[in-house]
Amino acid sequence: MHELAIADSIVQIAGRHANGRRVTKVQLKVGHLRQVVPSALAFSFELVAQGTSVEGAELEMEEVPATGSCLGCGAESRLEMFPLQCGACGGFDLQVLEGEELFVEALELEEDKDASHGR
Ligand SMILES: [Zn+2]
Repeated sequence: MHELAIADSIVQIAGRHANGRRVTKVQLKVGHLRQVVPSALAFSFELVAQGTSVEGAELEMEEVPATGSCLGCGAESRLEMFPLQCGACGGFDLQVLEGEELFVEALELEEDKDASHGR
């Protein structure tokens, strides 16, 4: 289950950026070609986040559709599944343009109310 390894790195990245603050939301970009199962990733994320500053954070996943450029005919097509194939000529020689992304796009952190407002 490679979702567990992905979840692990997400939690590490988020934790590092949060710098001790509590993370409330993690926005993730996932390329279609990564073949991540969202429910499996959400489950792994919850598991790995336990006991860290990321615990309880909402995981928002945005899927990036895969597109490729054909080296045979030059057409750009949407890649839905493996094997990757050109939609125009049926060739298999493609350069992937999008769809291999996997990164944390944004984080939401809990505001440190006590320190900034001082009652
Ligand atoms: Zn083609």
